[in-house]
Amino acid sequence: MVSRKGLGPKMLRRTVLKGAGALALAPLLVGCGLKQAFAAQPGDKSLLGTSKYNTRLVLLGTTGGMTWWPGSNRASNSQVLLVGEAMYLFDLGAGACARLAEGFNCGHFVVRDGQRTQLELSMFLADMRAVFFTHLHMDHLGDYPTFLEIGARAGYAQKQPLTVIGPGDRGRLDDNRSGYAGTVIQARQSDPALTTPTPGTRLMTDHILQAFAQTFNDCAQDEGYPDIPKSIVVKEIGDPAALPWPPGFVIPDPAKPWTADITCPAMEPFEVYRDDRLRVTAILVDHFEVYPAFAFRCDTADGSVVISGDTGPDTRGNLQKLAKGADVLVHEVIDDFWIKACYQGVKEGDPAWPLYHHVVTAHTSTADVGRVAQLCGVKKLVLSHIAPANAPVARLRLAQRNFSGTLVVGEDLMEIGLGKPRGRSKA
Ligand SMILES: [Zn+2]
Ligand SMILES: [Zn+2]
Repeated sequence: MVSRKGLGPKMLRRTVLKGAGALALAPLLVGCGLKQAFAAQPGDKSLLGTSKYNTRLVLLGTTGGMTWWPGSNRASNSQVLLVGEAMYLFDLGAGACARLAEGFNCGHFVVRDGQRTQLELSMFLADMRAVFFTHLHMDHLGDYPTFLEIGARAGYAQKQPLTVIGPGDRGRLDDNRSGYAGTVIQARQSDPALTTPTPGTRLMTDHILQAFAQTFNDCAQDEGYPDIPKSIVVKEIGDPAALPWPPGFVIPDPAKPWTADITCPAMEPFEVYRDDRLRVTAILVDHFEVYPAFAFRCDTADGSVVISGDTGPDTRGNLQKLAKGADVLVHEVIDDFWIKACYQGVKEGDPAWPLYHHVVTAHTSTADVGRVAQLCGVKKLVLSHIAPANAPVARLRLAQRNFSGTLVVGEDLMEIGLGKPRGRSKA
């Protein structure tokens, strides 16, 4: 394993440029060769535009939390899986669309009259088949409206309608731990007499289309944009008519107090998507009290990758069941040193208590994530949804302590290949 102790991303890039051989690392020319970024481990890196891997996961955004972290340019959580030319998005945090374009929008440049210029629009999303949302928090959703409109012009529904899969309406609010006495926003449902404070993926999408109706309509009528409402098919997990809960699963009673055992009960993985390239299964994870919050597993002919979504370390064995036999686990992480520095001595009743409670119950620290991955039995652990985004890589690498496999500290536009690289007959 290559040691990167003490090297933050910027330092690493400079070091690699000067002496790649010494570190056994090489530059990753991203997408169209417009930007350089670097993979953390040998074998994880290649030219995206001409990748060595038929199947690969590209991290688009590697931080999380509903805040802007100073000193970091990590985008919010998002990743794209490519199986051949087919593309699948998992979450769309703020900045994800810019990373998607950086990585894949090669454009169509020509020289006319001595000037290099782009011709035509770039349809680099023509093979985008589906978008999956682990849960409905802004650090996983922020670029969804942008993707819906700008992505349509980049071709996402050109070949087939885009499938959007995410959680349904939770049915009740979190407990009010902070003593909040302000406005509780209610989203209107299709029956105007009905409202909900916790709209699911379908109602959220409907309201995005309504909120941005002026620009969607203008672009359709003035510039020939696609018919966006007819370009997407939203399927909610938990909707009996779309993606029903698996048999035996009991929906929490909104009228009764919830515990993590109720919002993340032990259950079996269940299928939420299948096509000729990819099968996606889901399971509940413990983002208490944010329910439902899912981890997804992607199975392809080249291998499998699990995306944890946001979760505490104890999923009642669910994540381990989902990840059994998987090649790669992409897992969220919070820097344990940062938690201790920020919240030392905080106790129930203090103003900082609600956030501290959320941080330590609904997320997984560097002290725990290695053990979680070890129990999953995966070969490779990729840290993403890194909080704070400015945490030094050396501290994040402490996650290795309880994990015997390969640890990768994720960076935006890092590629993780699955299966054998092309052109090799043997691994
Ligand atoms: Zn998050
Ligand atoms: Zn979250």
